[in-house]
Amino acid sequence: MDFLLTEEQELTRQTVREFAEREIAPGALERDEKQEFPRDIMKKLGAMGMLGAFIPPEYGGAGLKYVDYILVIEELARVDGSVGLSVAAHNSLCTNHIFMAGNEEQRRRFTVPLARGEKIGAWSLTEPTAGSDASGTRSTAVRDGGDWILNGSKTFATHGSVCDVAVVFAVTDKGRGKHGISAFILEAGMKGFRAGRKENKMGCRASDTAEIVMADCRVPDANRLGEEGQGFIDALRILDGGRIGIGALGVGIAQGAFEQATAYAKSRRQFGRPIADFQAVQWMLADSAMEIHAARLLVQRAAFLKDAGQDVTRAASMAKLYSSETAVRVAGRAVQIHGGYGYVKEYPVERAYRDARICTIGEGTSEIQRLVIARLLLGESRERAT
Ligand SMILES: Cc1cc2nc3c(=O)[nH]c(=O)nc-3n(C[C@H](O)[C@H](O)[C@H](O)COP(=O)(O)OP(=O)(O)OC[C@H]3O[C@@H](n4cnc5c(N)ncnc54)[C@H](O)[C@@H]3O)c2cc1C
Repeated sequence: MDFLLTEEQELTRQTVREFAEREIAPGALERDEKQEFPRDIMKKLGAMGMLGAFIPPEYGGAGLKYVDYILVIEELARVDGSVGLSVAAHNSLCTNHIFMAGNEEQRRRFTVPLARGEKIGAWSLTEPTAGSDASGTRSTAVRDGGDWILNGSKTFATHGSVCDVAVVFAVTDKGRGKHGISAFILEAGMKGFRAGRKENKMGCRASDTAEIVMADCRVPDANRLGEEGQGFIDALRILDGGRIGIGALGVGIAQGAFEQATAYAKSRRQFGRPIADFQAVQWMLADSAMEIHAARLLVQRAAFLKDAGQDVTRAASMAKLYSSETAVRVAGRAVQIHGGYGYVKEYPVERAYRDARICTIGEGTSEIQRLVIARLLLGESRERAT
């Protein structure tokens, strides 16, 4: 066992931290207020290889391991949850799904530009009536010669209104339930494919979230991704990796809020001394430090298991669940330590408090993670719950 980062990992962390502090942190509040997607930042991160972080270099990526990738997400989220969320969704959902399930031609056509950051990816499973129970997908895909005709609408798609490429899921064989759902790659400009309403969100407001509408959208069979009928099953595997990324997002948001709270506690004086002198404040900081460490270890362990090629469903759910709830608690304490100033937008903890909330909802709510963990503990099939 080794709990220390390698020299290369330290270098990756340091490089991303410097970039995040120099290029991302300064405009984070303004982008949040305006709900402005950070295209320029995504372009620069693409040039650094961070939009294909664990994709092999021959497909345009940086060829990092998952244990390195989570450092990247943590460092981005430490200063801006929106960028952390966008980079996590682009990498671990869309780009990874096409890389994992795609044929050679699809990898060349889609993974390469996605990994280089030349294209922005969305991955859209959730529907208005199929959230936690994503196997209840209603969108349909019907064969028409060498094409498929897709109809339906997706909701809450990260990058729904800014994507160039979107992986979507539709029922191709109604009688086969979750084994009758297939994945398709949509491309911007395809007739019948458009973004619907953009959501006006509580947090991670600079990370685009929108509906995706498919109205008689004609998709060539060359854009069907993976085996016919296997889309939902592949999605569960993709979500295993995605949840580790959301775990890292939670650790990063918590770490940023904790650092802000610690600095503030040392500088803010009341009753003639720094508030850090008061035991009540010390305990909040001590609990936060401990929980962040525990969350980070769970996330790192899940990433390590993924790199080792092991089944990570339970480890990923545990990491995501604990680190999400840690982020919410730690950001809440950080607001409390800031008193009234934590309630106003000039202080980054206000944004962290709102951003943290997505971690307990996206890629499976905390309740669904508990369900997954419990079902695995009790020996039921992983396919029962997303
Ligand atoms: C900012 C943002 C970005 C997102 N990005 C994406 C994306 O890129 N792609 C994508 O496909 N989706 C995305 N989502 C959707 C997200 O994954 C869903 O919102 C989430 O899975 C929950 O689904 P729901 O919102 O329909 O809630 P519901 O499923 O309706 O759940 C409502 C409540 O009921 C609880 N509940 C439901 N079923 C059970 C059960 N069996 N046992 C106990 N409690 C239960 C839930 O835990 C929750 O508390 C995003 C959402 C947000 C807010």
